[in-house]
Amino acid sequence: MSKEIELPLQFAPTLVAWQRRHGRHSLPWQNTRDPYRVWLSEIMLQQTQVTTVLGYYQRFLQRFPTVSGLGAATLDEVLAMWAGLGYYSRARNLHACAQAVREQHGGAFPRTAAALQELPGIGRSTAAAIAAFCFAERVAILDGNVKRVLTRLLAFDGDMASSAQEKKLWGLATELLPQSQDMVAYTQGVMDLGSGVCTPRAPQCLLCPVSELCRGREQGEPTKFPVKTKKLKRSQRENWWLWLEHEGQVLLQQRPAKGVWAGLWSLPLFDDEAALQAAAQGLDLGQGPGQGLETMPRIQHALTHFDWTLHTQRAELQRRPADAQFHGQWVARERLADYALPAPLKKMIQA
Ligand code: SF4
Repeated sequence: MSKEIELPLQFAPTLVAWQRRHGRHSLPWQNTRDPYRVWLSEIMLQQTQVTTVLGYYQRFLQRFPTVSGLGAATLDEVLAMWAGLGYYSRARNLHACAQAVREQHGGAFPRTAAALQELPGIGRSTAAAIAAFCFAERVAILDGNVKRVLTRLLAFDGDMASSAQEKKLWGLATELLPQSQDMVAYTQGVMDLGSGVCTPRAPQCLLCPVSELCRGREQGEPTKFPVKTKKLKRSQRENWWLWLEHEGQVLLQQRPAKGVWAGLWSLPLFDDEAALQAAAQGLDLGQGPGQGLETMPRIQHALTHFDWTLHTQRAELQRRPADAQFHGQWVARERLADYALPAPLKKMIQA
């Protein structure tokens, strides 16, 4: 897509006027400039319907009225409050973010999108939404709904799978912004338009406040936008787990704060079998039959972007290795289920 795009300058004022007259004003996280409330609702709404979020949002605020209170809670308390909302990485990030606000920012969210984006679990669009709603910063949001609205409005046919095209759309979204005093209504308006009018399969162009400005509608086929050609490529991944057990206790290690299974408790995990064998050198595995490393059934685990094969080698130890060799926590087998474990490990201990 090389042609220059002419921006409909009336878009922002039309949308602002429409939002003020017809947009949603009644949701509990609207009409507030409290970044804690806006942030909480933004994270909860990322993969969940408004109707489901309503109850969770109220309960969360009752239990954790401030971001510092949330940061002071244990991860397990937060996960328990989140139970049923799904996509648990959101809850882990929520907790990590609240801790960062509490410990690094004195309990007050930073006031710019750039600084908000540095916090755990806050992406560019969420940071922009908080900064626009709470601090009236002139900064564009571009979540899935807004991408749909803007690509249709502009008949933007660049491939959204291309980061260069996405960057270009961010630029255009920024150029469309109104002055800062209208940022709250504009940001809410573009969200409302995406969720209630310009819906994925059946946009209600006849009711749309910006239909006169919309090039996608003018061209007759608005649903062909956004264009996204690249199919998600699934990759394969393979890792090795080492199950170490000594007198009924199993060694668990907490996963790093970033990446798959962030913060969960896992068996020691290795990139390949040779690395596992090397780590197992020097362990007191015993000599006789039934001793040494035992190969357990292979596990196949499907994640969004890859298929994961997990091999497990198990050893009953004669004595515990030194902490320097294997850090972590030794946990009684019957207490393993009390720990936040990755799904395939949970399945393995239940089998
Ligand atoms: Fe979406 Fe139709 Fe409105 Fe264009 S006119 S923004 S396609 S609802």
